Amino acid sequence: MSAPSLVANSETKIASIPVPPLLGASLAELTMWVQSQGQPAYRGKQLHDWIYHQGARSLADISVFSKQWRSQIADIPIGRSTLHYRSVAPDGTVKYLLQLTDGQIVETVGIPTYTNPRFPDPESLERLTVCVSTQVGCPMACDFCATGKGGFKRNLARHEIIDQVLTVQSDFQQRVSNIVFMGMGEPLLNMNHVLGAIKSLNQDVGIGQRNLTLSTVGIRDRIRQFAEEKLQVTLAVSLHAPNQPLREQLIPSAHSYPIEDLLAECREAVEITGRRITFEYVLLAGVNDLPEHATELAGLLRGFQTHVNLIPYNPISEVDYQRPSGDRIQTFTNILKQHHIAVTVRYSRGLAADAACGQLRASKK
Ligand code: SAH
Repeated sequence: MSAPSLVANSETKIASIPVPPLLGASLAELTMWVQSQGQPAYRGKQLHDWIYHQGARSLADISVFSKQWRSQIADIPIGRSTLHYRSVAPDGTVKYLLQLTDGQIVETVGIPTYTNPRFPDPESLERLTVCVSTQVGCPMACDFCATGKGGFKRNLARHEIIDQVLTVQSDFQQRVSNIVFMGMGEPLLNMNHVLGAIKSLNQDVGIGQRNLTLSTVGIRDRIRQFAEEKLQVTLAVSLHAPNQPLREQLIPSAHSYPIEDLLAECREAVEITGRRITFEYVLLAGVNDLPEHATELAGLLRGFQTHVNLIPYNPISEVDYQRPSGDRIQTFTNILKQHHIAVTVRYSRGLAADAACGQLRASKK
């Protein structure tokens, strides 16, 4: 299946009347929609503003519309989810379980960064990042990840992805500044809806493409397809191992997509976009965190324009991996640095609320 170029072609594409749910429709499309309802064109701008910036959950909420028209359109869905559960971790990270119209539950995380983390008050909010899900469950079944343990239910629709961002925005009463596609699911297996959501988050919600990061475990041909969209979005690839046998042990899909092929495709993507790729590497004590693994990883990535994000493992109940000690993590980091590889250790936020990387599942615990 090849993905049509939804984003790059959007400028030339002629807008068509959107089919509800309306969330995800552009200003031009919403304008056509209001006109199809016998309303003047300027109502399109109002509708766009209320959906994307005022957080309208129902068309009946839009008080600038006449009462009569509102009652006629009240049942036409915008496409918002309902809040099923919300919990706040001590570091201010908020985990949301959102219920979709078919009853499925999906998880989203709001991650505030404060200038002074000791005084997490709204005044000192520096960034508000949303970690969005792209699927209900995940078919990849990586051994260390909670999401895969629950199996795969379905892809999320475009509006269900955008809704997560609007939910966090209205809960925090702050503009979202960054989005990471690192929640439940494998985004490149839901390419069209993810690309549609990226376009709308950029053009309608107003979040800069450079503030978006998409994380993938690597699906054959999809990294190149994504690169061909020529977006300013950062691509992060979940590598997690410096060689094929170890990667296969952790990631079932690696069997049919060897690490050399994955890296070759990543190199192509860098050539197409001119943008650096980030590699993510979950550190599992005694499994992939030894000094020789670091040396091997440095060799594998030699000459690559890259940045490595080391993610110390966040525990999940189904498996008994351990997070490495601070010393081990430091040694691993130093070896990469000695080989001139840009590296960051990314301690996940939200651990205490089971809202950290790899801990997302469609239940409260
Ligand atoms: N499917 C995508 C995005 C989802 S996960 C992907 O695989 O990239 C986002 C990141 O969290 C991935 O790098 C993933 O491997 C990592 N992760 C999964 N389980 C984890 C765990 N238990 N601890 C730390 N990171 C984990």
